[in-house]
Amino acid sequence: MPELGEPVDRPVRLLDFWVTPENQTLPNPADLVDPGWEESERYWVADYLNHGLVAGSWMGASRCRLCSCSNGSRDLTDGYYLWPEGLGHYVLDHDVRLPAEFLDHIE
Ligand SMILES: [Zn+2]
Repeated sequence: MPELGEPVDRPVRLLDFWVTPENQTLPNPADLVDPGWEESERYWVADYLNHGLVAGSWMGASRCRLCSCSNGSRDLTDGYYLWPEGLGHYVLDHDVRLPAEFLDHIE
């Protein structure tokens, strides 16, 4: 554990920024849909995601890759991870499962 006041060297990890024509190595949300993921857990995870701190804003809202709804224009963070504002929508409305590592982290 770091001492109080000691600088903490923890890189913020990007979480689920979706595949683009320019970067094919990023995940495609359609591949992560897990219809068996329990609704109560999804609500809880989405609530956590929706309460992140604003880390940055972009011009124009992004569109959901699965239903094309307008899905936020900001990045949120909890100090460890960085995710797009609309990630909670993918979790709640499309059953997009997040990495186990992240779920362990927020538990
Ligand atoms: Zn959607």
